[in-house]
Amino acid sequence: MKCPTCNKGKMERVIDKIKKDNINFEAFKCNSCGEEIMDMKQLKVLSNKYRKLRESREITFSRWGNSIAVRIPGEIIKEYNITSGIHGLLTTDKEGIKIIPHVKK
Ligand SMILES: [Zn+2]
Repeated sequence: MKCPTCNKGKMERVIDKIKKDNINFEAFKCNSCGEEIMDMKQLKVLSNKYRKLRESREITFSRWGNSIAVRIPGEIIKEYNITSGIHGLLTTDKEGIKIIPHVKK
């Protein structure tokens, strides 16, 4: 694909980052003028990431013995029917930490 802006460069698939929000996104970047263009699928992925970010909540890490504990807000506890003593899974990926409680919804 040729660059529609400068008409000289070639559009290459790149992973870029919006530093202030710590969000990675995929786009096509011109190897000549640096113009970045996204297709509909790439835009959709990025807007989903922003929707998730808007829905996320600020939490505080606090020390609990040798571990660090996270306080889970009340509305999430209600939504996922979490009670003290239940087990869950904690996984990590490139974006962060995910907690999956073992309860029936
Ligand atoms: Zn260009």
